[in-house]
This record gives sequence, C-alpha cells and structure tokens, in this order.
Amino acid sequence: MKLCKSCFTKSIEEKTRATIAKYNMFRFDDRVAVAVSGGKDSLSLLHVLAKVENRYPKASLVAVTVDEGIRGYRDEALKIAAENCEKLGIRHFSVSFEELFGYTFDQMVGRMDRKGNRETPCAYCGVLRRKALNVVARKVKADKLATAHTLDDETQTILLNIFHGDVLRIAKEKPATDEVHPKLVPRIKPFCEVPEKETALYAYLRGIRFQSTPCPYAADALRNDARMILDRLEEKHPGMKFTIFKSIEKIRPALEELAKGEGIGECVECGEPTTDKVCRTCQIRKQLE
Ligand code: SF4
Ligand code: ZN
Repeated sequence: MKLCKSCFTKSIEEKTRATIAKYNMFRFDDRVAVAVSGGKDSLSLLHVLAKVENRYPKASLVAVTVDEGIRGYRDEALKIAAENCEKLGIRHFSVSFEELFGYTFDQMVGRMDRKGNRETPCAYCGVLRRKALNVVARKVKADKLATAHTLDDETQTILLNIFHGDVLRIAKEKPATDEVHPKLVPRIKPFCEVPEKETALYAYLRGIRFQSTPCPYAADALRNDARMILDRLEEKHPGMKFTIFKSIEKIRPALEELAKGEGIGECVECGEPTTDKVCRTCQIRKQLE
C-alpha cells in the first residue's frame, strides 16, 4: 500500500502513539527528557513526541544531549540538536564527558590505546553515554528518559547480547523499564516498533535537519556485524526483525524471572546505581588513570 507524504508521517505518529499506549510509557503529567543526539532517529522522535505532548497539557518535554567530545562530529550534531529544539520551543540541556569524567572521548580513546586496551571504543562509550544520560535526566527532574531506539536497534541489541553470551541482559533492555532505583530515571523507547528506514523517511518528509555524518569510531563496532546480518535477513524475509522483537517480548517474563536475583544497589565509589559493587563507569575511569 502506498501512502502520500502526509498519510505516511501521520502513520508514524500513530504507530508511536500505539506503542506508547501498549507499553504504558507515559503518565498524563510526566516530565519527559528526550535523548537527542542530532541524528535522524532522535530528532524524528523529538518532533513526534512534541505532537503527542500537545494532547497532554500537564505533561512537559525537554531535550538532553551528551557531548562525548568527538572532534569534527559531535560539535555539528550539538548545533543541529539545539536548532531543532529552538524551532519546537523545547528547552535543551547538555552534559559533556569532560565535565563528568574528566576527559573528552577523543582523549579517552588515546589513553586506552596507549594502555593496550583491545575493546572497541563503542564498548566503553556506550557505558559512559548511558550513565551521562541518566545523570542529566535526573538533573532536569525528568520522570522518564525517552531514547530513539528503533526496531533495528532493538533487534541488533538482542543479537549482540547473544554474541556476548549475556542473554539475561535482554530482560533489562525492555521498551519501558520499571522504577527500580530512585536514582535511575525509567527509560522508554517509543520507536521500538518503528524500523529505522521509516524514521529516516519521516525526517526527510518533515524537512527535519539532522546530522548524517557517522561517528568516526563507529566502524569498529560489533553492532555493525549484527546490523549486516539482520539487514540481509530482512531483505530476503521481510518482517524478520519484527518477528525477532515479538519473540523476545513473548519470552520476556521468563527472562525476567531468571534475572530476578540481580538487585540494583549503589556503587561504592560514586554512589550511582549499579548491579555490581563498583559500577562499570568507575571501572573504566580506573582503566583511564
Ligand atoms: Fe560512542 Fe560508538 Fe556512538 Fe560513536 S558510535 S558516539 S563511539 S557509541
Ligand atoms: Zn561508580
């Protein structure tokens, strides 16, 4: 079925609304922080949520951005994110790796390389980004943190957790996380059932300016292999990504039951929520010293 421009953009907005309702993502008076990187997915999400929020006068939206300190990449993204927020009349807050962890990401990669660390940059950037987003969402007193993970991201993460032999982690990566710790802002993924191609098309059709340059460190990520496998599968067997996503949703209660023992406490070094004694961020920080 072919849709005109206006029907297509409406269909994405409706699909997102349906996902929000299905997973009970918002309360009518929530203050939602949208994680905006400046790319097509996060900016499309910001524009869609701005429309959703219009229907809830007691709800509010803010945008939050993490500046990792990646020269020639994040600076442009930050500008584009700020521009979009201004256009939509949404307040924009950012936090940098340098202010939180003492180094820009470029400096961290240099230090890790000199120390012979063999992890890909994305492996530790991901941990630090997650932490930074939680810190900034808490700072702006958000009730929820909305991230623009698409159906593609979700299925890639499922595969990555299997590659890493960490299947119980799948239980934690859900469309809407529970309130498990007062310092952990619950996360929601309103685009988890929307394919990445559709968020890109939404951005194009709505004339949203976004950053298209890829991160210079992204090429090494294992995620690229997961993406390639899934894209090939989807091309040959349309609907495969959605089938994988739905299969996990079906077995999620069993996975959650198995992962039940992993309670969340506070890191003995920084006091941030973690399932370990020392959180992964503090472990990375020690490696950097
Ligand atoms: Fe960080 Fe990797 Fe994303 Fe670049 S691609 S911002 S290194 S997680
Ligand atoms: Zn810590």
